[in-house]
Amino acid sequence: MKIICIGRNYAAHAAELGNARPDRPIVFMKPGSAILANNKPFYYPEYSQDIHYELEVVVKIAKNGRHVQPEFALDYVDSIGLGLDLTARDLQQECKEKGHPWEIAKAFDHSAPLSPEFVAPAALPDLDDIEFSLEKNGQEVQHGHSRLMLFPITELICYVSQYFRLQKGDLLFTGTPEGVGPLVQGDELVGYLWTSGGKKEMLRTRVK
Ligand code: ZN
Repeated sequence: MKIICIGRNYAAHAAELGNARPDRPIVFMKPGSAILANNKPFYYPEYSQDIHYELEVVVKIAKNGRHVQPEFALDYVDSIGLGLDLTARDLQQECKEKGHPWEIAKAFDHSAPLSPEFVAPAALPDLDDIEFSLEKNGQEVQHGHSRLMLFPITELICYVSQYFRLQKGDLLFTGTPEGVGPLVQGDELVGYLWTSGGKKEMLRTRVK
């Protein structure tokens, strides 16, 4: 199982970090050991003083495949969940300045809190416009609509499968909308997804 992540997939988020709008998807990976499952707490690591939250729609991949063609891309969507792409912004900045790979800033242990539950595409009002939000300590800090993605889910599946063979159970983190920010010990994050049945709590983690 691998975790494929997309950077800067919402124009407003690219802008808030002072990054240019990409002309093709920015791809990076996290190892399976990055997953923080079952709403467990996140322990702030000692090597960073600036861990940021980024709430993202996560696609669980339904089957194996490479070079997926657009007309078949939806067949690769098993279910939809939410995940946090936790980022050590201070380390990332240093890596970017030096032109180094940024795995230590993005792929460290428990950098990917994942919703315990995933929902079928049919349980969403519109797969092309998934609505989701993040609350920090009861205050909404991010509110996303997947129709604002620069590269929609089907395009991402086609693009990444040119380079990485998709395998059943892989996870695709689709990028974060604007509103990212730092975490401190004691913070509680709750992620919501709008399903056909209404707003649904998907993910909860406390920073310790
Ligand atoms: Zn991200």
